[in-house]
Amino acid sequence: MIPRTTTGWQQQLAEAYTSVEELFAYLEIPGALIPQAQRASRDFALRVPRNFASRMEKGNPEDPLLLQVLPRAEELLEHPGFIADPVGDRDRIEAPGVLQKYDGRILLIATGACGVHCRYCFRRHFPYGESNAGRDQWAESLDLLSRTPDIREVILSGGDPLTLSDARLAGLVEALNEIPHLKRLRIHSRLPVLVPERITGELVDWLTLGRLQPILVFHVNHPRELSESVTDALAPLQARGVTLLNQAVLLRGINDTPDILCDLSEALFSSGILPYYLHMLDPVRGSGHFDIPEAKAKHLLNMLRRRLPGYLVPRLVRETAGAASKSPLF
Ligand SMILES: *Cc1c(COP(=O)(O)O)cnc(C)c1O
Ligand code: SF4
Repeated sequence: MIPRTTTGWQQQLAEAYTSVEELFAYLEIPGALIPQAQRASRDFALRVPRNFASRMEKGNPEDPLLLQVLPRAEELLEHPGFIADPVGDRDRIEAPGVLQKYDGRILLIATGACGVHCRYCFRRHFPYGESNAGRDQWAESLDLLSRTPDIREVILSGGDPLTLSDARLAGLVEALNEIPHLKRLRIHSRLPVLVPERITGELVDWLTLGRLQPILVFHVNHPRELSESVTDALAPLQARGVTLLNQAVLLRGINDTPDILCDLSEALFSSGILPYYLHMLDPVRGSGHFDIPEAKAKHLLNMLRRRLPGYLVPRLVRETAGAASKSPLF
C-alpha cells in the first residue's frame, strides 16, 4: 500500500478511519467483532483519526483508547434511565447555537462536527442541524450576547469548535472582542490531543492576541492519549499564557482505577494541563455499559486525594438537567 502523506490537520481529519474493517486491519484485531461494530455504528458512525489510532495497542480489542471510540453491541441494549437528551440541552437553546444554563457563562455550539466520535458522548443524539451557530448564524448569537451584559465568559463548544478553520474562528473571536462586558474566552476541544498539528500559529494568534483571557479545556480520559507530540504542540500555548485545563469522563473499563486516574493527573501536569472536572457519565442512550456507580466514583476520588497534591485532584461532578451548575458529588 502506498503510505498516505499527511500534511496539515484538515487532511488528517479527512483521512480519519470511518470504516470498521480498515480500523481493525490496522490494529490487527480479529474480524469476529466486526459485525457487531457495524450494527452499532449505524446509529452513530465510527470516526477515529489515524494519529489517535497510532497510540492504541495493536491486537488488543480492550485497549482503553479503542474502547472510547469502538462501536459495540452493548450500545444497542436498553438501560433504564438512559435517554436521548439526559442533560436537558434542547430546552436551553436561547438562539441558534446558544446554550445558557449557568449564570455569567454562555456556550456557543460553534459546529456539530467532531474529530472523533466518542461512544459515550451525551451529544450523540443532539439535533445539531437545527441548532448550530456555524452556518452563518453568528449574527443572531452575537446580538444576543451584546444584549446580555451579565455574561463574562463565552465558551466555544460543539461538536468540536476547533474543527472550524482558523479564518472562521479568528473572525468570530474578533467579533467577541468587541463586546465590552466579555472578559474570557474558553474553548472546549478534544482535537489538539487527537491531532496535535491543530495547534497552528494562526490558532495561537487568534486565541491570544485579543482582549479576552484565553482558556483551553481539553478532553483526555487516559494517560496514554498524551503522546510526546501532544505535549510538544502545547508549548506555544503555555508560552503565550493560555490557561490549560482538562475534563475527563469516568468510564468503566477505561479509567476507573486509582492508578490510571493518578497517572492521568500526573501526565496532564507534565504537559502543563491542570485537571478540572471528572464527569460522571451522562445517562445517554447507548452508553449504559460505561457507567460507574456513585459509591465507586467517590471511593476512587478518595484514593486520589490520598495520593496526589490537591491541585491534581479533579472535581467529581455530575450534570443534572435544570441545575444551576455542575453538581459536585461531595
Ligand atoms: C458545563 C457547561 C458550562 C461550563 O460550566 P463550568 O462549571 O463553568 O465549567 C457552561 N454552560 C453549559 C451549558 C454547560 O453545559
Ligand atoms: S463532543 Fe466531545 S465527547 Fe462528544 S463526540 Fe465530540 S469530541 Fe467526543
